[in-house]
Amino acid sequence: MARWQRKRSACPSCTGDRAECNDPEHDWYAYRIVCYRTMAAAAANAKWERLHADAPYHDGTFNSWVEKRSDAHPFHFSEGVTIGVSRHDMNPDDNFLG
Ligand SMILES: [Zn+2]
Repeated sequence: MARWQRKRSACPSCTGDRAECNDPEHDWYAYRIVCYRTMAAAAANAKWERLHADAPYHDGTFNSWVEKRSDAHPFHFSEGVTIGVSRHDMNPDDNFLG
């Protein structure tokens, strides 16, 4: 099929087949796509946030936490920290999530 024909028959809303999208007799079923990696990363980030909700500032060692930012504790838990997940424990000695 020529490109212009494909483009003409494409639904402007979803780029699916326009004839199919335009058919009121057609049933549509919802589906979901699950990404356990994304779920695990979101859960880890939420736990990190929860762990430091009451004392969000640290001194750079990640060992001393306080409620308010100061010269001695200038770093917020979210600053400079990226939490992701991997199939292998890349740093088993870093027990940062307790
Ligand atoms: Zn459509």
